[in-house]
Amino acid sequence: MAPNRSIRSLRIAIVGMGVAGSYLINRLSRVHDVTGFERYPRRTFQCVCAWGTSKSYISRFAEACDLNFEDYILHEGENMLVSVGGVEVENPLDGLVSFDKHSFLEDMRRGQEIRYNSWVKNEEDLKNYDLIIDATGLRVLLPKIEGYELRIPCAQYRVKYRDPPFDDFYIQVLDGMGGYLWYFPLGEGWSHVGAGDLNHGHNQALQDFFDRYGGKREKIVGRPVRLCPPRYCQPFRSGKVVGVGESIGAVFPLLGEGIIPTLECAELLEKHIDDLDEYRRRVIKHFEFYETAYKFLEPILRGEVSLLEHAELSLAVLSHLWTNQSRYGFKMQINRLGIEPISFIQQAMTMVRMIRI
Ligand SMILES: Cc1cc2nc3c(=O)[nH]c(=O)nc-3n(C[C@H](O)[C@H](O)[C@H](O)COP(=O)(O)OP(=O)(O)OC[C@H]3O[C@@H](n4cnc5c(N)ncnc54)[C@H](O)[C@@H]3O)c2cc1C
Repeated sequence: MAPNRSIRSLRIAIVGMGVAGSYLINRLSRVHDVTGFERYPRRTFQCVCAWGTSKSYISRFAEACDLNFEDYILHEGENMLVSVGGVEVENPLDGLVSFDKHSFLEDMRRGQEIRYNSWVKNEEDLKNYDLIIDATGLRVLLPKIEGYELRIPCAQYRVKYRDPPFDDFYIQVLDGMGGYLWYFPLGEGWSHVGAGDLNHGHNQALQDFFDRYGGKREKIVGRPVRLCPPRYCQPFRSGKVVGVGESIGAVFPLLGEGIIPTLECAELLEKHIDDLDEYRRRVIKHFEFYETAYKFLEPILRGEVSLLEHAELSLAVLSHLWTNQSRYGFKMQINRLGIEPISFIQQAMTMVRMIRI
């Protein structure tokens, strides 16, 4: 279909070659003159992430970049074992996979003009461009977020097992409910084992896990994940800079899951690159539910939960998860829920805590 108006070709700098930057350089370079900047040298570039995603949802983004997502899958989940307070529950999965995110992003960027080993510090470094996209995750080029910013500290190892302790996805909710530990299988005995905890117990939880299950730890990475949603991550723009992805809060707060939200956000930027006010409006609208999820989660993380105050939010969150099971890659089993209202809400909240990554 022919576009109804002509798009002026822009000179665009994309700073950060993570998932947002890699997707956008692939897509935008079809119309615009785009250069990518990445702080890591090409040889040592790394994706700090557990590499878990929902197969059915990510596939269309792969296709948009002329890739086949199936080629990158490392492990297809069937069941996730969730441990809460020493009790273990098996949850069936619906499309949750681990994938080779490193190769996936590398293939998205293939053939593009990218300056690796370029640590961009501010807008002045890139003054010859019409538009600068902050895809740094950290929002290096945008002003600091006004108000309270919730970020959860995380650490993760790549681990090799001769005899893996689990054959599928495993999650352990940490004491104090401030976070969780994850074990994501990557195939051939490899896995990502990591933890994030607002109470800073993640390193101890990891140590306890390795004391119990051993494994050869290859390398450690870590950075905090932003949990506050786009409405609370404004401004999105400053001068010639516009933000995308985790830089502006495109992370599902309940799961700390950022790959698909970041791709959705990048797609909105691609569509509205010539009208950035519209882009801002669309992002806020698209991620509206994340505000509900955040309002639900934040008091829980602070340990200030009141069931009655939370009844409406609990049901809103539960209903969202229920109607979007394949989006998040797991199946919810309604027969595990009671029908008496308070017990229902209590169980709903426990489930939400259980599935928080
Ligand atoms: C330990 C951990 C595990 C996670 N696991 C999952 C998971 O399993 N599934 C999921 O969906 N989400 C997961 N997430 C969240 C997800 O990885 C992020 O939300 C998502 O990758 C954000 O994408 P992005 O492109 O916005 O930023 P990023 O992926 O963070 O990419 C930003 C890029 O910008 C570069 N950069 C930063 N500053 C500069 C600079 N000044 N100049 C040049 N380059 C710069 C960085 O090197 C990086 O390559 C995890 C996060 C962490 C920390």
